[in-house]
Amino acid sequence: MEQIVTYLSAEQIAERVKALGAEIHRDYEDKRLVVVIVLKGSFVFAADLIRAVDTHNLRVDFLGVRSYDGTESSGVVQIVNDLSRPIEHEDVLLVEDIVDTGLTISYLLDLLQTRKPRSLKVCALLHKPARAKIAVPIDYLGFTIEDRFVIGYGLDFAEKYRNLPFLGVLQRAQ
Ligand code: 5GP
Repeated sequence: MEQIVTYLSAEQIAERVKALGAEIHRDYEDKRLVVVIVLKGSFVFAADLIRAVDTHNLRVDFLGVRSYDGTESSGVVQIVNDLSRPIEHEDVLLVEDIVDTGLTISYLLDLLQTRKPRSLKVCALLHKPARAKIAVPIDYLGFTIEDRFVIGYGLDFAEKYRNLPFLGVLQRAQ
């Protein structure tokens, strides 16, 4: 039997997301922002984040990605759902749930750069520096976490637990 232990509560997350939203609002106040949400893991975080950015000059788009090999990131990413519109000359903010090895975000940044946005920044809810394989710039970061596999708030384990309102870790019950 496995038990879910709270790692970051819904309240802790909400407070941090609100602060990130205010920071993003300040930086993009006079710009038109395109928020690119990386599916599936980021959709819950992004839904809260965009509502914390107090501007009407914002559009969202989605990038559906799948890692080629199961649990260990290989950095080879398959695009299963591409952006619906071009991002050339746009100010783009890429929203990720978690930067682990950094390989996925690094691949996505390279891909999006080829489409010539005016600017391209990264907002990640979580960062696990202990597992970094490549340095990636994270312009807006929610939390730095230790090397634990977290679930909930959009993040899954075998497609389960995305709907937990908090971030948790799985522990074997005694
Ligand atoms: P990276 O390429 O940075 O190693 O991998 C990033 C992706 O791996 C994330 O977008 C996420 O899908 C998955 N991932 C990495 N660490 C975790 C974790 O602790 N929990 C969950 N649920 N997914 C993770």
